[in-house]
Amino acid sequence: MKQDKNGLWVSWNENLTHNYKSLYKITSEKELQEVIASSEKIRVFGSKQSSADIASGAETLIDSTSYNKILSFNDAELTITVQSGVILGDLLEAIEAKGWCIPCLPDINTVTIGGALATGTHGTSGNLLCEYITNCSIILADGSVKEITVKDELIDAVRVSLGVLGVLSEITFKCEPIYTLHIKEGPEADKIWLHKIEERLQKHDFLRILWLPHTDKGYVITGDKINSNTDIKENLGPTYLKHRRTTSKILYKYTHIFPWFTAIANKLLYRGFFSSTKEYKGSLYQATVTKSRGSTLELAEWTIGLDKFSEVFEELKTEINKWSNKSFIHIPMDIRFVHKDKSWLSYAYGKDIVTMGCVSRSAATADTYEAFKSIENIFLKHGGKPHWAKRFMAKDAELSKVYEKWDDFKLLRRKLDPTNKFLNPYLTELFNEKQEN
Ligand SMILES: Cc1cc2nc3c(=O)[nH]c(=O)nc-3n(C[C@H](O)[C@H](O)[C@H](O)COP(=O)(O)OP(=O)(O)OC[C@H]3O[C@@H](n4cnc5c(N)ncnc54)[C@H](O)[C@@H]3O)c2cc1C
Repeated sequence: MKQDKNGLWVSWNENLTHNYKSLYKITSEKELQEVIASSEKIRVFGSKQSSADIASGAETLIDSTSYNKILSFNDAELTITVQSGVILGDLLEAIEAKGWCIPCLPDINTVTIGGALATGTHGTSGNLLCEYITNCSIILADGSVKEITVKDELIDAVRVSLGVLGVLSEITFKCEPIYTLHIKEGPEADKIWLHKIEERLQKHDFLRILWLPHTDKGYVITGDKINSNTDIKENLGPTYLKHRRTTSKILYKYTHIFPWFTAIANKLLYRGFFSSTKEYKGSLYQATVTKSRGSTLELAEWTIGLDKFSEVFEELKTEINKWSNKSFIHIPMDIRFVHKDKSWLSYAYGKDIVTMGCVSRSAATADTYEAFKSIENIFLKHGGKPHWAKRFMAKDAELSKVYEKWDDFKLLRRKLDPTNKFLNPYLTELFNEKQEN
């Protein structure tokens, strides 16, 4: 195992940095166990793509990205078992080659499985990614391995656990036979798409809405399962559409100084990149997951019960359209839908939810981005929950009000990690544990 001493850890978008004493690049479960058992304070990281300060900040760090083997397939059960540092895109390529899929995917393929699971990563029109786990092993604070299956009560706590109960080691996912989606995309006025959500969720297998703040428009993406041989009228729109992210970056370049210019930029972006329609087909992975991004960004995301979304949306829209409010928001705000589950720290615990993303296209100026504050105030007021991997201010006092299982999770965490080995300063504050001197 490679060890690096006294270095600087830097996150993907360079917004977070931490000094460390030792960094281990592990390749086996045994190495993972040894490092955890012999360290006092430790965090494990994957692709470092989280905006929240959850992946580093301890004197010992584990880089999981070389712990990345696909271990086995079970053809009868449609399961795949992998090491937790495997990159999501590699896992998806491997299961597509078998004719399988995981039916709900995030819009990123460069994250590690461990990082994605720990933070409750999700897509749209299905469950959180962690709900497809059938069994896994975690390395506890004393270095021992604990095997967990769907039959164990612990699974509901472990599925989304921010790496504070232990470090995920080997994971088995239940897949489904692959299917083809017929995707249709196009712009629609807010007053139309907002009222069609429930109807579309019934009618379509896939629904995602890219909301375009300050334009009164959304860009609606629907998908229907079809036979892969079905002919469709393919329409990929004008070729310049591929320059959307670069153009956005240029238009938003000075919006941290002149926030109001965002409203003009959004209208231009709407006309240039979101006013035409598209139609195509492909697997969920090939047709809907972004494969490359030219630049970094900073993200927040909030979630709310499906039943409350319209009210929260209207309130947010009114608030950000006030000239007194400096929350001019970059395009798009990604609206997705997740089915209810039983995982303690899942956004969808006990109810179907809507998730709403908020992006700052300039990672470097994200601290001045008022939109992150406005979305947090409004969603929290209505009982919304923040995405664990993204930017938010709420801590224990607020989170205990929105998570029914918050106190149970804290008790379990203390039992499994009595010396707070897995807590960094951010997580210590999040869970309101005592800071060590
Ligand atoms: C451009 C972009 C698009 C995104 N799209 C989506 C999306 O569509 N849906 C969505 O839900 N999220 C999305 N995210 C968020 C992303 O999925 C999370 O930030 C994810 O955690 C990143 O994985 P990572 O490998 O970079 O993890 P890291 O950022 O390195 O780590 C994240 C957390 O996981 C912990 N961790 C890592 N490995 C393990 C392990 N083996 N066991 C236990 N804990 C572990 C770390 O300690 C840390 O707390 C997006 C992020 C970006 C930057």
